[in-house]
Amino acid sequence: MIQIDLTDKVAVITGGSSGIGFATAQLFLRAGAAVAICGRDGERLDAAQAELERQFPDAPLLAARCDVLDAEQVNAFAARVMERFGRVDMLVNNAGQGRVSTFADTTDDAWRDELDLKYFSIIRPTRAFLPMLKDAPSPAIVCVNSLLALQPEAHMVATSSARAGVLSLVKSLATELAPERIRVNSILIGIVESGQWKRRYRHYLDAQPEPRQSWEQWTAELARKKNIPLGRFGLPEEAAQALFYLASPLSSYTTGSHIDVSGGFARHV
Ligand code: NDP
Repeated sequence: MIQIDLTDKVAVITGGSSGIGFATAQLFLRAGAAVAICGRDGERLDAAQAELERQFPDAPLLAARCDVLDAEQVNAFAARVMERFGRVDMLVNNAGQGRVSTFADTTDDAWRDELDLKYFSIIRPTRAFLPMLKDAPSPAIVCVNSLLALQPEAHMVATSSARAGVLSLVKSLATELAPERIRVNSILIGIVESGQWKRRYRHYLDAQPEPRQSWEQWTAELARKKNIPLGRFGLPEEAAQALFYLASPLSSYTTGSHIDVSGGFARHV
C-alpha cells in the first residue's frame, strides 16, 4: 500500500458526518492531516465526531454545524477552520443527496431546490475557502459528483441534469484556478452504500410486508437489476480512496478531470 504523509496539511470535508464524507475524514486523519467536517444535523455530527475521536484520539479534528447552502454559515465555518488550524490545503465538496423524481412529478420548486443544492454546495464552500487554498503549497478541490452526469436516469431527472452541469463547473473551475496552482477534480460515483441508501432501505422495510429482504439481499438484488458489472454497491471507503487520491499530491498533474467509481456501471467507453 502507498503511504502518504499529510502531517501539517488541513483537509475540509463538507458533509463529513456520514457515508462517503465520514470515510474520507477517516482516510485523511489516518494520513496525519488535520480535518474539519461539517453537517446540518447536530446529533449526527456529534456522533461522527465522537467516533472519529475514538479512532484517532489525538488527531486534530474540528466538527462544525453548517449548512453549505447558507453563505453566512459557510463563512463562519471557514473562519473557525482558520482560527483552529490556520490554513487549508484540500477542500472536498461532498455534502448533498440525490432526488428521486421524474419530469412528470418534479415541481418548479423541486427543480430550483435541486439545482441550488448541486451548484451552491460547491460554489459557496469553494468561494469561502479559496483565499486559504491560494496560500497552500499544493492546493486541491475535489467534488463528489455522480455517474448520472454522463448517464442520466429518467427517475432522477433533476439530479441527473444538475450533475451534468457540475461536470462543466468543475472543468471551468479547474481552468480558472490553474494559474493559482489549485487543482479541481471530481469523482463520478454509481451506487455507494451510505446514509441515503440506508434511508431508502428503511422505506422499503416500512412499505414491504413479510417476508422482507435483509440489507445484503436488498442491495445485491438492486445491483443485479441494474446490471452493475462488479455485482454490488460500492463502499464509502472506495469512494473516499478516489477522493483522497485527487485531493493529495499523489495526483499532482491531474486537474479538470474525473474518476469513475461505479463498479463498471458506466455504459460508455
Ligand atoms: P449520506 O447521507 O451518508 O451523507 C451525506 C452527508 O452530507 C451527511 O453528512 C449530511 O449531513 C451532509 N449534508 C447533506 N446536505 C447538507 C447541507 N446542505 N449542508 C451540509 N451538510 C449536508 O450520503 P452519501 O455519503 O451517499 O452522500 C455524499 C455525496 O455523494 C452526496 O453529495 C451525494 O449526493 C453523492 N452521491 C451519493 C451516491 C450514493 O450512491 N451514495 C450516488 C451519487 C452521488 P446532514 O444531513 O446532517 O447535513
